Amino acid sequence: MLGPAILAASRSDKMRRIVSAAPVTKPVVNRFIPGETVDQVIPIVEDLTRKGLEVTLDVVGEDITTVEQSHAARDAYLELIERLGALGLGDKAEMSVKLSMFGQALPGGHELALANVRPVVEAAAAIGTTVTLDAEDHTTLDSMFAIHEELRRDFPQTGCVIQAYLFRTEADARRLAAAGSRVRIVKGAYKEPAEVAYQDKAEIDKAYVRIMKILMEGEGYPMIGSHDPRLIAIAQELARAAGRKLDEYEFQMLYGIRGEEHLRLAAEGHRMRVYTAYGTDWYGYFMRRLAEKPANLLFFLRSMITK
Ligand code: FAD
Repeated sequence: MLGPAILAASRSDKMRRIVSAAPVTKPVVNRFIPGETVDQVIPIVEDLTRKGLEVTLDVVGEDITTVEQSHAARDAYLELIERLGALGLGDKAEMSVKLSMFGQALPGGHELALANVRPVVEAAAAIGTTVTLDAEDHTTLDSMFAIHEELRRDFPQTGCVIQAYLFRTEADARRLAAAGSRVRIVKGAYKEPAEVAYQDKAEIDKAYVRIMKILMEGEGYPMIGSHDPRLIAIAQELARAAGRKLDEYEFQMLYGIRGEEHLRLAAEGHRMRVYTAYGTDWYGYFMRRLAEKPANLLFFLRSMITK
């Protein structure tokens, strides 16, 4: 069971220092996080959109400890949005935001995160795009959903993420499957206790299907975040059964994972959005990708040995 151990390491400062300093880390990291700056990620966005894909951009850096860092995170998104707007990419690229990066875990964090995310949502709307609030560990979700509801009063297109592994999520899906809402369903990437989350992969997949059904039969806009071929096929079936046209839902996958499938779904006429993370503080994001597929860790370790 390597996954949980890697997720535990993703919270360790000592491991962060070791992994970040390892000379061979960079090429492996680049597979999932293809740039550190706006200048490096813009050509990636242009390349993806030329191929008929859409993009959601995540500036990595969830582990902040000061209010100043939360402001810097807000400013990084504002800079990104300004550049996308200048290039006319507003209709192709949206933002994914982790509220922890906007200060949610600091004292007074709920208000701070809301104050930081609001100008980002406003700026996104001004260039014709939107923001989706990522789901982090379960202790943060009541605050995330409250911020989502608050933002939707002025910007109803603001999206949020729900995680199939949590027991609470079916109820959240029912509440969110309303007209105009944009909801990304994912399996869930954090280490969660058995009191709140399914631990068994098959149970998580079954919950994912139940939740997709709620979203597809609802009145919102479902965003299917998964690389799992079975779930993608079931999503297509559920969409057909619910009478949805191809532009009434979308698929989303992570940059660097099953790239050929991104192109296949887009070629079939589906909306396909690639979640593209960039920035310097990539440790937490990178470790979650290793935890999802232990073969990634073996590849990483092998590259350290053969270097
Ligand atoms: P899995 O059963 O894990 O994988 C299915 C297949 O996909 C695997 O067999 C493998 O071939 C491939 N695959 C999956 N992951 C990897 C990997 N890391 N490396 C290589 N191949 C892989 N989680 C959250 O908790 N909160 C979020 O806000 C969030 N946002 C996301 C946004 C998007 C667009 C996506 C796609 C995922 C997001 N996740 C988020 C992560 C998600 O919760 C899962 O951890 C991740 O998607 C793996 O689950 P899966 O559905 O792809 O299925």
